[in-house]
Amino acid sequence: MKKLEVLEKVFGHNSFRTFQEEAVDAIVDGKDLLMILPTGGGKSLCYQLPSLLMDGVTVVVSPLIALMQDQVRGLSENGIEARTINSDMSEEERQVVFMELKRGVVKLLYVAPERLSSMNFIEFLTTLKINFFVIDEAHCVSEWGHEFRADYRKLGLLKEYFPNCPISAFTATATPKVAEDIQKALRLENPVSLRGSVFRDNLKIYSEKRISSGRTQLINFLNAHKNEAGIVYTFTRKEAEQTAAFLQSKNFSAHAYHARIDSAVKERVYKDFLHDRIDIVVATIAFGMGIDKSNIRFVAHTSLPKTIENFYQEIGRAGRDGLDSETLLLYTKGDEIQKRELMNSVDSEEYKEVLYGKLQKMYHFALSGSCKHKLLGVYFGDKVDVCETKCGSCLKEPVEQLDITKAAQQFLSAIYRVGQKFGQNQVIDILRGSKSEKILNFNHDKLSVYAIGNDRSKNEWGMIADRLFELELVNVGEHRALKLAQKAKDVLKGTLKVWIDEDKIGKLAKVIIDEEDEKEPKNELFESFRTLRRELATENNIPAYIVFSDKTLVELSKKLPQNREEMLDIHGIGEVKFERYGEKFLNLSKELASE
Ligand code: ADP
Repeated sequence: MKKLEVLEKVFGHNSFRTFQEEAVDAIVDGKDLLMILPTGGGKSLCYQLPSLLMDGVTVVVSPLIALMQDQVRGLSENGIEARTINSDMSEEERQVVFMELKRGVVKLLYVAPERLSSMNFIEFLTTLKINFFVIDEAHCVSEWGHEFRADYRKLGLLKEYFPNCPISAFTATATPKVAEDIQKALRLENPVSLRGSVFRDNLKIYSEKRISSGRTQLINFLNAHKNEAGIVYTFTRKEAEQTAAFLQSKNFSAHAYHARIDSAVKERVYKDFLHDRIDIVVATIAFGMGIDKSNIRFVAHTSLPKTIENFYQEIGRAGRDGLDSETLLLYTKGDEIQKRELMNSVDSEEYKEVLYGKLQKMYHFALSGSCKHKLLGVYFGDKVDVCETKCGSCLKEPVEQLDITKAAQQFLSAIYRVGQKFGQNQVIDILRGSKSEKILNFNHDKLSVYAIGNDRSKNEWGMIADRLFELELVNVGEHRALKLAQKAKDVLKGTLKVWIDEDKIGKLAKVIIDEEDEKEPKNELFESFRTLRRELATENNIPAYIVFSDKTLVELSKKLPQNREEMLDIHGIGEVKFERYGEKFLNLSKELASE
């Protein structure tokens, strides 16, 4: 079969997406490949399709068992012989797969990187006809990345054991430096290098300073996503549990997920989420790469992630089906300080500096009033235009600027008066004339700046402090002590003015909910198809989106196809899928049309 025919018949897509065809051609031509494409860009197809066009088996290295199982399940649904060998399987189960591999019936074999450290396994592989290797999540190879894994580094040996076997490496997130590192570590030879745009045009990115616990902001955000699937990322396990309980008390269908949860419960939550039986998973990053659910409509972070790479990957889990999705990031300066302190235990000074640097960039990203998509582009070395309509910064109405030079001077003087040895809370307490024990113990009530700012609330001062961090007039040193930056002198002398958006002072941050949501209408027809999908998914014990994606359901409900040909024209319905589920959906479609 030709590639376009396979694309249509097996995968049910009418055309290639950006760079998919180039990737397929590179692999079929026997070249090494490095592809950097955002989550949802369609990387899997880039190696699955050539695998079907070529003799032999493709070995795919993937970091997580859950991820492998998902992929294998999805492929089997499309009638493709895929298998995994992993540590969750019994010896007997593994032997069955070994036999199938020997018989040459397997097209794609998914393994974890650790397996390729075993010489026995390598020797076994050398007896097979391998057409090419795939390294998924290839950024794990790089120490400059954010998810370095030592087992990935060893994959460089593949070129030694299999000198004639091309390697294709895929990742969603790699700065130019990480890309270079991947190429070197895997010893890719003149690879075809494809870098997709960082811009995810179906993602709206909002970022807000967290007010208090951030729960009001979270609820406002979630209210705009009732009955939709989404992930809320929290920093700690305890917070995941508390937030999940809080959301349940507000009648959201939510469940916590983190490393310490009993594995049976974890498995159940994961399955319930995949099968659309719960809407929201409140998770630590333990609920990470394994999630391959295409109809996630939102992702929220309740605190600052450690790196932009993490952030980009996590928000990237929303909207893989291409439909509009939203993300909300809540952050405070305190998050940055707390995470920096946790990094202090890292041994290597050099690595620590890399981590600090990444964290600081993440914080600046969160604070910045510039277009978020453009900022992501700058970070990942891609030219992205100002989005205009797809991030909180661009959607924000222009607001009046307030001159807060006087308040800034008061704040900076207080830092100076306490010898740059105290943290933000103490400085604000001084300005507001608090009589706390810590103020009295240090005689801070005797300072000239004591109580000069008691006309402003704690929150307001917090906003002002944030603005000073943003403008890099203040830094945080050891033990969270505030330090004056060089430029602060100009403010104190009155030669540099400080401005702030008027709506940041005195008001709670307003959660932006776009009234004119451009989302595809999800009407009763969609719900009818969704119910059928859920029934079939439960019947076959597979995740709902593997039956059909949301995008397919939206198209079905818009077009209401009346025969097989019209069904095959729908996004995501190929012949194999049609054989499996087509009849039932077609019948429902006819029924709905007649109504
Ligand atoms: P990635 O691995 O890059 O995150 P996936 O391979 O999971 O992305 O693909 C994301 C979604 O895009 C899947 O639902 C997939 O079916 C869909 N997709 C992939 N290629 C195409 C295409 N050529 N046309 C339409 N949809 C596609």
